Amino acid sequence: MINDTMYARGAESSVIREIFTYANERKAQIGAENVFDFSLGNPSVPAPDEVRQSIERSLKLPPEQVHGYTPAPGAPEVRTAVAESLNRRFGTNYTMADVFMTVGAAASVSCTLGAVTCPGDEVIVIAPYFPEYRVWIETAGAVCIEVLADQETFQVDPEAVATAITDRTAAVIIDSPNNPTGAVYTRENLEKLADVLERANAEREVRLGHPQPIVLISDEPYREITYGAEVPWVPSLYEHTVVCYSYSKSLSLPGERVGWVLVPQVSEGARRVMTAVAGTARSLGFVCAPSLFQRVVMDCVDVPSDVAAYARNRDLLTQALSQMGYTYVEPGGAFYLWVRALEPDAEAFCERARAYELLPVPSNSFGVEGWVRVGYCVAPEVIERSLPAWKRLAEDYGL
Ligand code: PLP
Repeated sequence: MINDTMYARGAESSVIREIFTYANERKAQIGAENVFDFSLGNPSVPAPDEVRQSIERSLKLPPEQVHGYTPAPGAPEVRTAVAESLNRRFGTNYTMADVFMTVGAAASVSCTLGAVTCPGDEVIVIAPYFPEYRVWIETAGAVCIEVLADQETFQVDPEAVATAITDRTAAVIIDSPNNPTGAVYTRENLEKLADVLERANAEREVRLGHPQPIVLISDEPYREITYGAEVPWVPSLYEHTVVCYSYSKSLSLPGERVGWVLVPQVSEGARRVMTAVAGTARSLGFVCAPSLFQRVVMDCVDVPSDVAAYARNRDLLTQALSQMGYTYVEPGGAFYLWVRALEPDAEAFCERARAYELLPVPSNSFGVEGWVRVGYCVAPEVIERSLPAWKRLAEDYGL
């Protein structure tokens, strides 16, 4: 009567959400100011005023223009606005045909996975990785293959990817700026990855007459959240790239559920991928992206993200933690600090941190051991007040 897989997914809430729930309970017990919740990736910077202005303008229009269904791929003028904005930024020649509006990055990646995999295919993720990737890959009937990132820099390890590629590899997912490590993949790193994929495609073509190249899914909800690092435009480095984007982080609109998939329409194969993206969106029942927020995207497509608050938090946290003796990956983007746990078992470390009301996320949730993710998309006071607790925790471990 019930699908056990779906039941299990509903019953086992994510570790991140569990910590968030615990934090709220604890805040009710001892006061919000005494609990240091670093679990969620909910932007702390408010949506820019241009969003409110856009909504107010739209609400003056006839309701059917604002609240009606749009075509499944999105309103043509919205897709055109997105394409033109990308062209201005990356010197490309996209049109609305390259853009499919979605219900956020979760839908962008799910629709892409549905489009480019067949049951039993393999999809490579770079560990540590965003945990929902596994759920979305398995929902598509594919198999999630974890490949470790370089353990020093947390860049992609192209040779490790090369070793993991098999005849069933349909796609590789990358996420830069990265959740959970904050690493931004360099141009050189991405060129090496592209090289590996091109070599594998050429080799498979000769050996198998395999017509289907490996798709590089570039999941980029944090593209705009950077601290000076270049975020290369991946389709310019590897032809078979699908970009998955959302406005959840860049415009601080995670609850409004709007983003897009970009499949550059450079070949017959790419046109088929886009049609299959539409087919997956239809199959999953997405119908169309929210109409009002498609209009917001059209109006705000070039509004810059406000990263100043995240940059201040990042500096505050990294300076204090390094003085205390913690080690971490220098974050080039996103709003997460990847800190080495002070014992090999990250869960045990988080348990001890909990005694000081510090709530980071153990790295096991992201497929690796020995680290924690500290989300610094919080009010700066949370970081300031948490510093004595981080210090006592470090002292507990003899730092
Ligand atoms: N991909 C990554 C790497 C994320 O961190 C998130 C959300 O935190 C998503 C996808 C999902 O984003 P959205 O809220 O736009 O669906």
